[in-house]
Amino acid sequence: MIDPRFVERAEPEEVFAALSEEIRIAILRALWTTDGPATFSALREAVGSPDSGRFNYHLDVLLDQFVTKTDDGYELTQAGKRINGAIEAGSYTTGVQLEPVRLEHPCRTCGGELSLSYEDETVTVGCGDCPTTAQFAVPPSAFSNCTREAIPRVASRYLQATFHRIDAGFCPYCDGSLQSTVETVADSKEAAAEAVPEEIADVRDLPLARYDCRRCGATYTAGLGIAFHQHPTVIGFYRDRGEDVRERLVWTLPSLDPDRERVRSTDPFRASVTFDCGDDRLTLTVDADLDVVDVDSS
Ligand SMILES: [Zn+2]
Ligand SMILES: [Zn+2]
Repeated sequence: MIDPRFVERAEPEEVFAALSEEIRIAILRALWTTDGPATFSALREAVGSPDSGRFNYHLDVLLDQFVTKTDDGYELTQAGKRINGAIEAGSYTTGVQLEPVRLEHPCRTCGGELSLSYEDETVTVGCGDCPTTAQFAVPPSAFSNCTREAIPRVASRYLQATFHRIDAGFCPYCDGSLQSTVETVADSKEAAAEAVPEEIADVRDLPLARYDCRRCGATYTAGLGIAFHQHPTVIGFYRDRGEDVRERLVWTLPSLDPDRERVRSTDPFRASVTFDCGDDRLTLTVDADLDVVDVDSS
């Protein structure tokens, strides 16, 4: 990992040690709920007026990394805001089992009925008549204040937002930079390969977009249709035909679809994905680094 000079990295143990005292979490929570910067005395009062020396010591541990001091007082850094975000997200759990939700759109493979279920923070969209399934992670906090009817739309939006971020090159977990490549489903060591049933044998030769975080090591994979549906060319193709493709539910996009996604050559590596709108087709061809090298519309 090569970081530019203005990026410094703390050891993971130091990060946890800094957050290991209740009072430090209380300080971060107090700054989260305060409007604007807080003075030393206001902040101390907000956490229950502990001994001034003790308070000062703990505040000092948080300084630079999670809290910053300005002329107007103390404020959260971006990392401090993220800790609060993680606490908020972590306060939601999936204790309640979700009854599968029937989806409006038919299965792209067989026309059967699709349903959406949610368990272990994972959304599964599956077909009742064939082995087609898609799975993706959605934290329970994304579904807070969400009606049962809105669940499919929220799940789809969450995945789209994740891909928007991935597409821009940022790791959704740590903001580190991502390296993108294409591999075949059969070569993928990730869960996606296991999720493909043997019954859909030809799927194993299909291309899969893969993104590896250079910082935290997380890996994301997706069918090319999902990986590219927010590409400007694709958005333009649908817009010219009166549709906003970003409003589509992700399971209606081509993904691991042998009719629309395939490896064209191995040397040089080329894979393609075809989007359709009515009778019109748009095919993007990508190289091994997931860069678009050819666009064909007909
Ligand atoms: Zn099906
Ligand atoms: Zn990362």
